[in-house]
Amino acid sequence: MEVLETASVKAEAPARQADQPFDRETAVVYFQGRMRRYGECRLGPMTHALHYGTACFEGIRAHWNPAQEQLFLFRAREHYERLAQSAHILNMSLPLDPPRLCELTRELLAANGFRQDVYVRPLVYKSSEEIGVRLHGLEHDLLIYAQPFGRYIEATTGVRCMVSSWRRVDDNSAPARAKITGTYVNAALAKSEAVENGYDEAIVLGQDGHVSEGSAENLFIIRKGTLITPPVTDNILEGITRDTLMRLWSEDLGLPVLERSVDRTELYIADEVFLCGTGAQFSPVVEVDHRQVGTGKVGPYSQALGELYAKVVRAEVEKYREWCLPVY
Ligand code: PMP
Repeated sequence: MEVLETASVKAEAPARQADQPFDRETAVVYFQGRMRRYGECRLGPMTHALHYGTACFEGIRAHWNPAQEQLFLFRAREHYERLAQSAHILNMSLPLDPPRLCELTRELLAANGFRQDVYVRPLVYKSSEEIGVRLHGLEHDLLIYAQPFGRYIEATTGVRCMVSSWRRVDDNSAPARAKITGTYVNAALAKSEAVENGYDEAIVLGQDGHVSEGSAENLFIIRKGTLITPPVTDNILEGITRDTLMRLWSEDLGLPVLERSVDRTELYIADEVFLCGTGAQFSPVVEVDHRQVGTGKVGPYSQALGELYAKVVRAEVEKYREWCLPVY
């Protein structure tokens, strides 16, 4: 297997133009402790994580700022801190601390020469090749993959949602606050049910019947100028976009935020509803279960918050520059 030293890959990589097609086979991936070409990475058929879902992951975005000709990783440190927590829940640890993983990710993106919006996928997985369901006594490893990435939810004029017939995984069965690959079967069931029934996205309730979140997004409602979102004890993923938007809402728009349980019918009568996440970004919801939300169009609060968020992630707001790590 060709082993590429980090520095040499970086030096060799040509700058990638936005219109240049992404070639996955030759893309640089961090795999088994080195930078390698994607096409040269191999995992054995009996890899534990493949059989039992014993892995955890992150989704991190890097946004291209054309005016500054710069690629900015958004809140990468917080993503790696959450990855460390997910790994800890699964009896694993990260081989490097979050600041060094941020550095490694910068090198990876530079080695690929990306000059467009990118999605980064770090994965920590039980790498032992053996049969037997358990968490203890197994080896684990880290890989990091990245590729150009645009929209995650296609809808541009607002998202149409259904409340899923599937319930969200529970902390006492499969922890929702960890990004565990195995528990994403829950998200996949909800997402496919929604899309196959003609909706854009699913909203999932917890076992107690309160709203938890979207299939891979946190959820907010706005009622009379107050931003309301389920608390971290309602089986949500403790989202980084969620945290970002709560900060922008209170600090920049100067409006109140409430973390409390949300009932299903509040989705129908809220002034505005939106989903958010690294993939979905800021996604206003205009319909839930065939009920129009508010006016049925993207509301004024969502419009303002969405526009501010789009600037923040591209390092266009000085106050939040520290969240944006330049790659080049
Ligand atoms: N909930 C779930 C289940 C998710 O998969 C995601 C995406 N990571 C989110 C919420 C949003 O989290 P973040 O804003 O940190 O991407």
